[in-house]
Amino acid sequence: MIDLVIPARRKDLGDGFEVGRVLPYAQRRMVGPFIFLDHMGPVTFKPGQGIDVRPHPHIGLSTVTYLYAGEMMHRDSLGSTLAIRPGEVNWMTAGRGIVHSERTAPDVRAKGGLVHGLQTWVALPDAHAETAPAFTHYGVDDMPKFENGGARGVVIAGSAFGLTSAVTTHSPLFYVDVELDAGAEIALPDNYSERAAYIVHGRVESGGIHDAHNLLVFGPGPAKIAAGDEPARVMLLGGEPVGPRHIWWNFVAVSEQRLEQAKADWKAGRMSLPPDDNGEFIPLPE
Ligand code: MN
Repeated sequence: MIDLVIPARRKDLGDGFEVGRVLPYAQRRMVGPFIFLDHMGPVTFKPGQGIDVRPHPHIGLSTVTYLYAGEMMHRDSLGSTLAIRPGEVNWMTAGRGIVHSERTAPDVRAKGGLVHGLQTWVALPDAHAETAPAFTHYGVDDMPKFENGGARGVVIAGSAFGLTSAVTTHSPLFYVDVELDAGAEIALPDNYSERAAYIVHGRVESGGIHDAHNLLVFGPGPAKIAAGDEPARVMLLGGEPVGPRHIWWNFVAVSEQRLEQAKADWKAGRMSLPPDDNGEFIPLPE
């Protein structure tokens, strides 16, 4: 039933900001179109501290940001400047190229506090890999919710459990935030060929006991997960594969050649910075 369990591995993104990197993983690059998954925090910043991910480029993917706690300011090269808060979704389609930053706003930084969330990247299918960049922010009410016997969920993107999110996507997928009461269970959608569940907190049972901060990758057939003696929170994700992808730094591409082009474009300053955040940027790793 479970093909593989992928542990989140600690990565220091600099300035004291650590994430748990889940995807990609050596033995499993993607689950459906999902090619990257970072668990941010939970981290409690002291007053004056916060996140400063300076402007950096993306191609060939959509970044999806979803917070459980805290607030982050998004700025991009299209001119979008917007705070994201818990339960909202930032869906940024890079397509042929976009540049963005993610920071803690000054008023939030002054207070400090908890930040907790997930950021995932969804690879674009071939037909959309070079699409025009776009940024869309969705409010809490744009995502359908469900409740069933101690399982409460939000269909953040795609379709699952007979519900469809308002979030615009480019290939068949599901991304579902689920809270389980102690002892409650949920079955995974059975109409997608690749499926996984990331345990955000708590401990779940699914053909064995699994701790938080692990991604359970399921094989074909019926699959379900159940919370133990404590409540649990999981993110269900998956969909149909879009085909093999190259990934390097912040770039996802159909070909090695397209990756090289993106590297050269960023190095040469051919990708414009966010108009509201153009004083610095992350250089191309050498
Ligand atoms: Mn980014």
